[in-house]
Amino acid sequence: MVPYGLGFLVLLLFLGLSPLTAPWSQGFLAPAVALGGGGFLLWRGERAWGLGLLLLGLGELARTLGELRGWPRGLYLDGPYLAGYAALTLALLRLPGKRPGLSLLLLPLGLLGLTAALRPELGMDRVYGVWDVLLLALLLPRLEPLFQERFLGGRALWGVGLLLLLVADMSRSLLRAAEDHLTGHPAHLLWSLGYFLLALGVVEEKGEKTAFPGQALALGSLFLMPALLLQGPTPWGVQALALYGGLAGALGLLYAQHLGWRRTEEKGRRWTLFLEELARLSPSVTQTLSPEAVLLGALEAARQLLPQAVGLEVRGRRGLVGERTPHSLVLPLNGDSAYLYLRTPPEEPVPPSFLSLLGERVRQVLKQVEWGTLALTDPLTGLLNRRGLEAELPKLLALARRYGAPVSVVMLDIDRFKRVNDTYGHPVGDEVLKVLGRILGASVRREDLAVRYGGEEFLLLLYGADREAAKEVVERIRYRFRSHRVDPIPYPLTLSAGIAGGEVPEGEPQLEDWILKADYALLRAKEAGRDRVTLA
Ligand code: GH3
Ligand code: MG
Ligand code: MG
Repeated sequence: MVPYGLGFLVLLLFLGLSPLTAPWSQGFLAPAVALGGGGFLLWRGERAWGLGLLLLGLGELARTLGELRGWPRGLYLDGPYLAGYAALTLALLRLPGKRPGLSLLLLPLGLLGLTAALRPELGMDRVYGVWDVLLLALLLPRLEPLFQERFLGGRALWGVGLLLLLVADMSRSLLRAAEDHLTGHPAHLLWSLGYFLLALGVVEEKGEKTAFPGQALALGSLFLMPALLLQGPTPWGVQALALYGGLAGALGLLYAQHLGWRRTEEKGRRWTLFLEELARLSPSVTQTLSPEAVLLGALEAARQLLPQAVGLEVRGRRGLVGERTPHSLVLPLNGDSAYLYLRTPPEEPVPPSFLSLLGERVRQVLKQVEWGTLALTDPLTGLLNRRGLEAELPKLLALARRYGAPVSVVMLDIDRFKRVNDTYGHPVGDEVLKVLGRILGASVRREDLAVRYGGEEFLLLLYGADREAAKEVVERIRYRFRSHRVDPIPYPLTLSAGIAGGEVPEGEPQLEDWILKADYALLRAKEAGRDRVTLA
């Protein structure tokens, strides 16, 4: 792009310094640019565009010479020019884009009729004027995306170039008499600029680049059009206004484009963050499996796209994190109803894909939590099973090591449980296990672990409790268990317990050691007559 920009500067200098009063300087400028551009494009493989520019250049040359020498007009002079028009039409038609409707094509035909009737003295130039209108009708739909979707530097360049060319040509063909068009009309400047931008832009678009200088050049030229047209007798104040107004307009448009890009970029970045958060959203086995943690993660993900998201709730699965507000979005989540609460209603419509993506992910992860919970807990008592103990133990150990807190291990066993089963049946035995499970769950703190270790053997890991504290806990459990009557068992049930540990654990093997010791202490409690607690 830099060499093109330098070329453009040189051209502008040339345009500015050349004796514009000399008609030949303008008459030869456009063909020179067109011949150069055409040759270059043919060499680059852009046949239709290259041929068009080359033929137009030849045509201009022939006509300029013809008019300077006073040759009579005729097809021998206009032939290359008309062929150039045909090539340009072909090039435009071959571009993907909307085709103008038949009604739009009637416009140039109507104009042809009108000009033919009103200005017969224009002769051949009437054809160019009408053809210009036709090309304009083909060009404009292809420029539309520039201002709606994607601003391509190359397309802006050649589009504006062709626009300048057509406007200049129309003004020459239809508005001016053929004989005075070489006497310093400023449309020639537009004309040369048009050829130049057309050649530049086609090359640029082929390279698929979106270069800022290209856009600046194209827009600048577009907005300079009125300034260039307002030459001659126009007061200098009006000219200056057109010039600076044009410049300001071009810069403003570019800035608006720039802001648009920034917004799009920012949007893309937020979507990426959102998707990353969603991908990270998964319950890890070493963490406590809680639906609330899942919802909190999902809310965090939602915030990446919707900063006003303040709460998330899945009803039917007990779960609300954050605030419940009057503004909510419903997440598609088959089965349960889910709501994303917002501090304020969203300013722009929330894309449905966002809601279904979030909903689907929340559903998946909640399912995972459910399965995880099933795998790690005992269905009868709701306490952890051995797998659950393995999953939760590292967290407890890490906590104890970090804060230097003691951990006690308690092994509990119901006394003479076989007798309950044998006398009252297994369902009653199960009920006893459930009762003890409830008591254990309610007697320990959040950091502690209550595990159904075997059939009617339970293991407690008490965080921050030395043996004395653990003994107190067990005594409380024993008291509660004894006081709880289970129908139809007429006598109070008792249990025995062994306690070990009570120190800061130094490794996992040590904890296994403590479990063994607690089991041994339990055995001694049984031997000593049951219904008691023994310290290892
Ligand atoms: P001890 O005082 O020495 O502990 O006597 P005990 O009868 O309790 O003896 P033991 O601990 O060996 O008894 C285990 C019994 O627990 C055997 C089994 O029938 C019963 N049991 C194990 N799991 C379940 C269960 O899920 N439901 C029911 N109802 N009983 C179970
Ligand atoms: Mg027992
Ligand atoms: Mg037992």
